Amino acid sequence: MSDKMIRMTAANDTIRAFAVSAGDTVEEMRRRHGTSPVVTAALGRLLCGAAMMSMMEKDEEDLLTLQVSGDGPIGTLTVTASGGGVLKGLASHTDVEVPPKYAGKLDVGRAVGHGVLRVMRDTGAPEPYAGTVELVSGEIAEDLTYYFAQSEQTPSAVGLGVLVDRDCRVAEAGGFIVQLMPDAAEETIAALEKNIGELPQVTALLSEGAAPEDILERVLSGLSPRVLEHRDVSYRCDCSKERVIRSLLAISRADLVEMVSEARADGKPIEARCHFCNETYVFSPEELERAARITV
Ligand SMILES: [Zn+2]
Repeated sequence: MSDKMIRMTAANDTIRAFAVSAGDTVEEMRRRHGTSPVVTAALGRLLCGAAMMSMMEKDEEDLLTLQVSGDGPIGTLTVTASGGGVLKGLASHTDVEVPPKYAGKLDVGRAVGHGVLRVMRDTGAPEPYAGTVELVSGEIAEDLTYYFAQSEQTPSAVGLGVLVDRDCRVAEAGGFIVQLMPDAAEETIAALEKNIGELPQVTALLSEGAAPEDILERVLSGLSPRVLEHRDVSYRCDCSKERVIRSLLAISRADLVEMVSEARADGKPIEARCHFCNETYVFSPEELERAARITV
């Protein structure tokens, strides 16, 4: 497996298309968080969607956040992606198990439940962009399709898949997004619908060794597809001791004072974990005092 994504265009620039292969990235997420198969599938699909949507950003520095909050057992899924292809994600509950939809099919929709999908774009502007839509099914791909139609008025087809092995590891993960521009011709739309209707599952194509480009060649067959860009994809957390201490400062002053005095009384350092990668950082009561500008 090598994680890559691609951006293509077709039919005289009236179609834009994205595809990703992200098996290693989703497996790295699973390894760090120890997610159960259905959580791996839900978070993995969202990671693949976010990866492709990050290619829609103008600037590689821009940060895209997708958040799915449902009333199902998973709780909230949060994924961030930079245009540089760096992904990370977390789920409020990582050990969820729900009965399969049918033999061998994880029921992501049931694990997610009813709720909302939030899309946040931080471009460095004072007010980050945010769009919210109701979840259609909680299966992620349908929810993203609905988001593009509602919030961005862009008709889209989204396919996402994560194949989890019997040993709970990620065998394949990937997906595609195809979008119609306002001036797309009727015959273009018809050809696209036919291609997508005949397309096997994304994970089946990936299992056969298909690259993101091969998937889009099939989706855009007969529509003169053209490659615009290739990018690498990886799971990486940009956390640091300073950032984790800073995130601790969000709790109340009284709680910070208590944390410092307890640590001092026990003679133990303070530990805080980055929720995105599970890395634990250790620091002294004095370091927290200094960061919070408190004296205990
Ligand atoms: Zn981290």
